[in-house]
Amino acid sequence: MGLNDDWRARSLKAVWHPCTQMKLHAPQGGAQPLIPVARASGVWLHDHEGRRYLDGISSWWVNLFGHNHPAIREALVDQLHTLDHVMLAGFTHAPVVELSERLSALTGLGHAFYGSDGASATEIALKMSAHHWRNAGRLGKCRFVGIAGGYHGETVGALAVTDIALFREAYAPLVRLAATAPSPDARQAEPGESAADVAERAAAALDAYLAEHANETAAVIAEPLVQCASGMAMHDPIYLRRLRELCDRHQVHLVLDEIAVGFGRTGTLFAHQCPGADIRPDFLCLSKGLTGGTLPLSAVLTTDAVYEAFYDDDVARGFLHSHSYTGNPLACRAALATLDLIEQTDAVSRNIATAQRLAAQLAPLTQHDRVRHARRQGMIFAWDIASSLPDFSRRFARHALAEGLLLRPIGHTLYTMPPYVIDEEEGDHLARGALRALQATLAEEGTGGAAHTRGGVDGV
Ligand SMILES: *Cc1c(COP(=O)(O)O)cnc(C)c1O
Repeated sequence: MGLNDDWRARSLKAVWHPCTQMKLHAPQGGAQPLIPVARASGVWLHDHEGRRYLDGISSWWVNLFGHNHPAIREALVDQLHTLDHVMLAGFTHAPVVELSERLSALTGLGHAFYGSDGASATEIALKMSAHHWRNAGRLGKCRFVGIAGGYHGETVGALAVTDIALFREAYAPLVRLAATAPSPDARQAEPGESAADVAERAAAALDAYLAEHANETAAVIAEPLVQCASGMAMHDPIYLRRLRELCDRHQVHLVLDEIAVGFGRTGTLFAHQCPGADIRPDFLCLSKGLTGGTLPLSAVLTTDAVYEAFYDDDVARGFLHSHSYTGNPLACRAALATLDLIEQTDAVSRNIATAQRLAAQLAPLTQHDRVRHARRQGMIFAWDIASSLPDFSRRFARHALAEGLLLRPIGHTLYTMPPYVIDEEEGDHLARGALRALQATLAEEGTGGAAHTRGGVDGV
């Protein structure tokens, strides 16, 4: 056994891996190999035996400037020598203050509340919204509206607004389900309809729902521009403008979940700041790229109006939610270094050029005759693949690994969301490898079986 096999075997004995049917990793007959990673640098993940994989999905969408970035590493080492951690109840420290000030300056929203993961940011935003209405004497306003195909994390509260059956079904009895409004997904355009028409149609349905249910609704929660987890569904920015108008008109909060799309991924620093929308939510959830992919940290930003509804002599009117590691100094310091990199490298404008170059490199894939709905939003590229293979995702991922590529299609949606630092040669490796992996996967199709492009979310 080589070192890779060694770590694989030990991991399968000791670790319960996320988002995984463990039997698929079975040493004999398992369809999905477990990949031990020894170290990572830039866009590359290296195993123990000299093989390397280009991280085409930024390690679940968290990485922005490549792995092991020296600037983030140095900031973390410095912080480790200064202050590792202190509880944030009753105490404060420079990294959390500076990070909160900077996030506020970038979003126009203040009083950052911290959690450790995306799902905890969702929980915080939902609890804060409902508690705000309670403090305002509107006790009935305690339900939520999510968007079809939405994903906001997998704790029990977040599952209530996550519309992905595979993730939710087993826990249905535990979940207090939110209402679901139609998705503005541009792929739903009828002949002659534009993406903006689909968005208007979805907004009209939400309007009708809120007209009847605003009294019991605390907030609408949505992912601006791209619903990533359900297969990179993209929509027209007019939907965001309509969301803002509807939430104002019906007096419900607008929670925007930018956990996946924040920090320059979609073309502007935050997706809701895009041309054609340029709105401000009542709550903004951030995580993933916040620390450049180094440490878990999430933040919920909100308005002064919400903050003031909690400010009182009565302790119980305060927001008493907490996590042990709330505002961890190391994670905040990594986030500050990440914000520095975004500024110093002019990441948002550079991404526009990088994405254009990548789009040209990926053109042969986009033009493949099995591709449907080729689409892009900033540094997120997606293609639905018409294939009869029910396990297209796993088969493709395996061929991609053989090409030295980490790509995990979501159902029949192939996508890439690479680190911002991907250079021309690496872009070629990504584009050629993805095309070859697609050809190899399609070559495995048997005869018969209708081609389909939606296959659930297998493979996230
Ligand atoms: C990943 C994700 C979450 C959940 O974040 P975790 O850190 O995995 O809990 C929530 N919302 C969106 C849009 C995400 O992409």
